[in-house]
Amino acid sequence: MDYRNFVGGQWLETTDSTPNVNPSDISDILGYAAKAGVDQLDQAIDAAHQAAPGWAASTPQQRFDVLDFVGSELLARKAELGRLLSREEGKTLPEGIGEVARAGQIFKFFAGEALRLAGDRLASVRPGIEVDVTRFPIGVVGLITPWNFPIAIPAWKIAPALCYGNAVILKPAELVPGCAHALIEILSRSGLPEGVVNLVMGRGSQIGPRLVESAKVKAISFTGSVPTGRGIAAACGQHLKKVQLEMGGKNPMVVLDDADLAIAVEASLNGAFFSTGQRCTASSRLVVTEGIHERFVEALAERMQALKVGNALEDGVQMGPVVDERQLQQNLSYVDIAAKQGGKVQGGERLNRDTEGFYMAPALVSETDNAMRINTEEVFGPVASVIRVKDYEEALAVANDTEFGLSAGICTTSLKHASHFKANAEAGMVMVNLPTAGVDYHVPFGGTKGSSFGSREQGRYAAEFYTSVKTAYTLP
Ligand code: ADP
Repeated sequence: MDYRNFVGGQWLETTDSTPNVNPSDISDILGYAAKAGVDQLDQAIDAAHQAAPGWAASTPQQRFDVLDFVGSELLARKAELGRLLSREEGKTLPEGIGEVARAGQIFKFFAGEALRLAGDRLASVRPGIEVDVTRFPIGVVGLITPWNFPIAIPAWKIAPALCYGNAVILKPAELVPGCAHALIEILSRSGLPEGVVNLVMGRGSQIGPRLVESAKVKAISFTGSVPTGRGIAAACGQHLKKVQLEMGGKNPMVVLDDADLAIAVEASLNGAFFSTGQRCTASSRLVVTEGIHERFVEALAERMQALKVGNALEDGVQMGPVVDERQLQQNLSYVDIAAKQGGKVQGGERLNRDTEGFYMAPALVSETDNAMRINTEEVFGPVASVIRVKDYEEALAVANDTEFGLSAGICTTSLKHASHFKANAEAGMVMVNLPTAGVDYHVPFGGTKGSSFGSREQGRYAAEFYTSVKTAYTLP
C-alpha cells in the first residue's frame, strides 16, 4: 500500500517515502508513506487558502452532510479500520476498534453541532441600536497530530475545523500514516469541495516550521511533546497566530485509606497500563495513603503481572507492544533510572514474543518520592510509580506538585475528600473512582499548567478555537 499526500483534491505522486512498520512484528510492513518536502506543503497551503472562502460560505446542511457521511463510514468500518490501527500503532484490537468508533462518534457529534452554531443578539446600552455577536471561521488551520491516537486525534481536530467552516491541512505523526490516510480517503469522498481538506505527511522537523510560519495558515492545533509544543507556541506568538497545544501529563491517581480496594486497583491498572501506557492521560503517579498502601501495591502488582502482553492483533492480548524501538529504550532507561534512585521495581523488562517487536512487561515502581525523575518527567510507557503519603492533605499536595496538569484521579468513598479534590486538583480533568484516562467525546478535553495551552478541544468548547467572534452594531 502506498500512502500518498492529498492536496487540492488530488493524490500527489510520491517522490520520497518511508516504511510503515508493525510494532508487533517488524517483518510486517504495512506500506510506504509519502514524505512531503516543503514544495508539497506549499501546494497544500495554497490549495487550502483558495478553498477556504467557499467552505466558509457553506450552509449548515452541507457541513452536516459531510461530517455525517464520514461518521457513518467510520462506524460501519470500525472493525477493518480498527485492525489497521492496531497493526500500525500496537494497541490491542478492542482498543483499536474502540478508537475508530470514537472517531466516528466525534464526526457525528460535530455534524449536529454544524446545525446548532448560534450567536447572540443583545440590546445596546445606547437607544435604538442593535448588537449582534456572530462566530465566523478563521480560515486555514494547520493540524499537527501525534502517533498515540492515530485516528481519534485527527478526528477531534478535523471535525470541528470543518464544522465551523475552516479549511484544513493535516500533518500526522510519521509513525502512523495509515490511519491518517484512511481518514482523509473517506473525507475525499464526502462531498467536500477540492482543497478544503489536505493531507501532508512528512518529517515534522522539516515541514512543521513552514506550516507554523506561513501567513496563509491562521491557526495551529498541536498535540505532541512539550519541547515541540513550546517551539510551536513561540513561533505562533511571533506571527500572532492562534494556537492550541495539548502536551504531556504526569497524572496523579490518589488512593485514600477509605477507597474501595477493587475499584482503586482496577482504575489504576487501566489508567497506568492500558494502551501500553501511551496516553497523555495515563496514571503515572499513584499517590497512596499509608493505611492502604501495602494492600494496594500487592494487589496492583498481582494484576499487572497477570496482564497478557503480546501481538496487538492476537485474541486475549491485554497490552500490545511499545510503538517503536526509540520509545522502548526510553521506557527501559526510565525504569533503570528509577531503580538507581532507590525505587523498588517489579516488571519493566524487555520481552520476546513469537514475532519480533517492541514488547516490554509493565512496570510498577514503589517506594518512590515525588522528586525522583520517574515522578517529574513523562515516560509515555507502561510504567507507574507509587508514592506513599500520610493523609489526604499530603496526597493533594503531592498530586499538585508537578509542572503538568492534564488529568487527576482520586479513589475514595469520602464525599468530603472527593468534593475537595475536584475543586482543588490542579488539572483540567478530574476523575473520582475512575481511571485518569478514558474520556467522553462530547465534553471539553484539556489541561492546565504545562499540559495545555490555548482554548479547550472537543465538545461545544471547540468552537472557541475554530471560530472568531464578530460584534456588529446597527442603527436601523
Ligand atoms: P512525539 O514524541 O509524541 O512524537 P512530537 O512532538 O515529536 O511528539 O511529535 C508530534 C507531532 O509534531 C508529529 O506530527 C511531529 O511530526 C510534529 N513535529 C515534530 N517536530 C515539529 C516541528 N518542529 N514543528 C512542527 N511540528 C513538528
